Amino acid sequence: MNVQALRSAEAKGTVDRLNFIGGEFVTGSGGKTFENRSPADGRLLGLVHEASEADVARAVAAAKSALTGPWGGMAITERVDLLYGLVDGINKRFNDFLEAECADTGKPMSLASHVDIPRGAANFKIFADIIKNVGSEFFTMATPDGTGAINYALRRPKGVIAVVCPWNLPLLLMTWKVGPALACGNAVVVKPSEETPSTATLLGEVMNSVGIPAGVYNVVHGFGPGSAGEFLTRHPQVDAITFTGETRTGEAIMKAAANGVRPVSFELGGKNPAIVFADADMDKAIEGTMRSVFANCGQVCLGTERVYVERPIFEEFVKRLKKGAEGMKLGRSEDPEVNMGPLISQEHRDKVMSYYKLAADEGATVVTGGGIPDMGEDLAGGAWVAPTIWTGLPESSRIVQEEIFGPCCHVQPFDTEEEAVRLANDTEYGLAAAVWTENASRAHRVAAQMQVGICWINSWFLRDLRTPFGGSKHSGIGREGGVHSLEFYTEMTNVCLKL
Ligand code: NAD
Repeated sequence: MNVQALRSAEAKGTVDRLNFIGGEFVTGSGGKTFENRSPADGRLLGLVHEASEADVARAVAAAKSALTGPWGGMAITERVDLLYGLVDGINKRFNDFLEAECADTGKPMSLASHVDIPRGAANFKIFADIIKNVGSEFFTMATPDGTGAINYALRRPKGVIAVVCPWNLPLLLMTWKVGPALACGNAVVVKPSEETPSTATLLGEVMNSVGIPAGVYNVVHGFGPGSAGEFLTRHPQVDAITFTGETRTGEAIMKAAANGVRPVSFELGGKNPAIVFADADMDKAIEGTMRSVFANCGQVCLGTERVYVERPIFEEFVKRLKKGAEGMKLGRSEDPEVNMGPLISQEHRDKVMSYYKLAADEGATVVTGGGIPDMGEDLAGGAWVAPTIWTGLPESSRIVQEEIFGPCCHVQPFDTEEEAVRLANDTEYGLAAAVWTENASRAHRVAAQMQVGICWINSWFLRDLRTPFGGSKHSGIGREGGVHSLEFYTEMTNVCLKL
């Protein structure tokens, strides 16, 4: 560990984030650092030590050698116990994780303490449970000589898994990949988002404290192109790549993965619809849509950006959604009354604001919001935007077609079930949908027609981690969750034995 770097950060009241390679915290060999700033007020949180290409290669080599060390030969029961130990280890340091996640993202502690950190820990438990309990296939077969044969499938770890993560739910989305990867006996090299380096780094400390062998979990910091993300995904010793992030980044990673035909698992962008039928329970539909549009300042891949409301209740729905949006309290993460934080960065705010401007230019009716709120001098350096609702744009509008990833939605009336289904599916994305109706037949009929990875009926963000999760169309490749994760994180060998 570079003690000097940490001491100088401590003296400034900031926390530097180091790479975690082969069980040790290290600065980047290229000597480069970048700033980690608070999205709430722009203050410096600390410096992040960027991994060079040589550092990434060392991390991959450490992971490779872990596979041939004690980790590779470990019995499943022992591995599972270590994963349960990780759950306890995160929970013991719950407040450290909470503070680090909220400092990096600016999200309300009330949200992160219920979602990000507990679910981040739970990902190790669910996949430890699964690997312990799921068997493999077995077939008997007849042979011409009458003696027969048996077949059984063995699961082997895939090897070194590159885990490339986004910034919106940093710990939760990272352990959603690292949990099953380790449960299956792989070693990982994680590249957290440059915006949120902290909780992945803290997890390194927990890995050491619970006795996960060195090299099983590595963290390399940096950016995408020309930095750690690219170095990692094109490294020939990486056996598989799991990625969560933008569709365009997925395209770049897929090109890198083509060299050596490495498998990929992608969870990508969305432009998710909600359909609200006139027979919906209005209170539930408003409460759910408020969350699906505005939770995490709209920075949830599964969030709703297009709302289709049956015409008889359109006016009332828009009025109530507006009231809800205008009642949101923006502010610092530690304020228990705050339910919306800032966007992740000034750069992302520029992107979201460009859509707010575009909506106005395209002639949208701005029901509420549309600008930058006055947060006072204290928070003036933060990436704040107002919760925003639009109506009146055509379906072809970029606002209705492109992922904005901010606290905003366009609401559009519809007249028939067929029309609602057509509008909901009229997108290049296919991640999630929410359907609000009290008519059970209609609920199942409509859900079956949604071209998405997950369709909620009368709820949103309710996740049973045993179920398949992923996106169709431009929203992803493959499914993870439950036994589906085993498909990606293991190689199967069929053993055929002639009796
Ligand atoms: P991003 O694609 O910009 O970055 C994600 C990660 O990829 C970062 O760690 C980044 O450094 C890295 N990266 C960027 N370019 C790279 C390259 N060429 N090679 C290798 N790595 C590279 O995404 P983001 O802005 O961090 O996250 C927001 C996006 O993630 C949204 O589109 C959102 O919908 C999506 N997302 C999807 C899911 C899902 O489950 N489908 C979940 C969360 C977020």
